[in-house]
Amino acid sequence: MFVVPSSARSWVPVDPTSHFSLQNLPFGLLAPAGRNVTLATAIGDYAVDLTALRDAGILTIFRSTNMDSFAEFSLEELSELRHKLFEIFEESNATLRDNEILRMGAMTPLSEARLLLPIKPTAFIDFYSGIHHASNVGKMFRPDMPPLLPNYRHVPVGYNGRASSVVVSGTPIRRPKGQTKAADAEVPSFGPTKELDFELEMGFFVGQPTAMGEPMPIADAPKHILGYVLVNDWSARDVQRWEYVPLGPFLAKSFATSISPWVVLPDALEPFRIAGAEQDPEPLPYLKTKLSLTYDIKLEVSLQPAGSDTSHVISTSNTKYLYWSFDQQLAHQASNGTPLGWGDLYASGTISGPLEGSFGSMLELTWKGSKPIEVGGATRTFLEDGDTLSMTGYCQGDGFRVGFGTVSGTVEPA
Ligand code: CA
Repeated sequence: MFVVPSSARSWVPVDPTSHFSLQNLPFGLLAPAGRNVTLATAIGDYAVDLTALRDAGILTIFRSTNMDSFAEFSLEELSELRHKLFEIFEESNATLRDNEILRMGAMTPLSEARLLLPIKPTAFIDFYSGIHHASNVGKMFRPDMPPLLPNYRHVPVGYNGRASSVVVSGTPIRRPKGQTKAADAEVPSFGPTKELDFELEMGFFVGQPTAMGEPMPIADAPKHILGYVLVNDWSARDVQRWEYVPLGPFLAKSFATSISPWVVLPDALEPFRIAGAEQDPEPLPYLKTKLSLTYDIKLEVSLQPAGSDTSHVISTSNTKYLYWSFDQQLAHQASNGTPLGWGDLYASGTISGPLEGSFGSMLELTWKGSKPIEVGGATRTFLEDGDTLSMTGYCQGDGFRVGFGTVSGTVEPA
């Protein structure tokens, strides 16, 4: 673990509102114009080609690899790489600062950088750890019962989703077709979803595998989490409502999941660790932890309606509203002995806050479509073709931010 001192500054100009301060230094995959795909970091307004830094002899890599992927790096290895990047970009280091030719070659403005899916997930797992979301869904769909199902505060509910449709921010999202049954219809029909929705989530990649039959103790969870991304788990509510009984979500979720392009290391988030949600009743021993992996990450959702050139904030939330923490999610998944794989992607579940205006889905913001919202002169219940949905998230330091950039997607017709 390497935490950059909060007073440290870079020779690269970094605006106090930039997500990519010297304290962040995330990892992503960059496709530079005319050159091969490379591992990259972001600082200020630039994406930095790490292959170019290695070839110039500035960045030493601990094992021989092509640098054209995450190459199953462990957290320890990425931590070490990030430490070296800190030294290169720290304001007193002149090596790259004063090498204009190398700087021009290695640093691409973020506005022009083509960023790829950082890691092709080997598996996608989706939890349901946002307690306000779970409770809102309960109120809407089971109004005569307590909002939370009896298992909620005992077991981190989740399901194994679909990895093949995880895409990077900017990828257009085709409106899915599916089987639905309207309340007043006698038989179901097949066609484009009428209730396309987003889900505001945080995700993490696994960076250290486990062997089958050997559950990971919860105290080891931090060693297995490689880094974090923002997740938009697109959902078709009408399809979901008809298909989810009795086995849970299936095609209503598997058509697309978008993630942000930069993987932020736990090292960068460490100064923003906060106490997790109070858990009552006390979790079973295999889910009990002294060190809660919860961070103060400010989240924001914006919608740019079709035909408009302005994006409007429709929700603000925070990672702290998760009931089950990331380490509890991972320990629960591993508790039956299923092997964890390098590159498995975990999503948290929709992170809604307690109040209107902090809800993490259209389903909740419009209360099942019964209360349409105004978005810059347009009215919305669910997402329409041409709408662009963006999410962002950052931690606020003293004069700097550690952020995730954005995850966005535009809805295309079915
Ligand atoms: Ca979800």
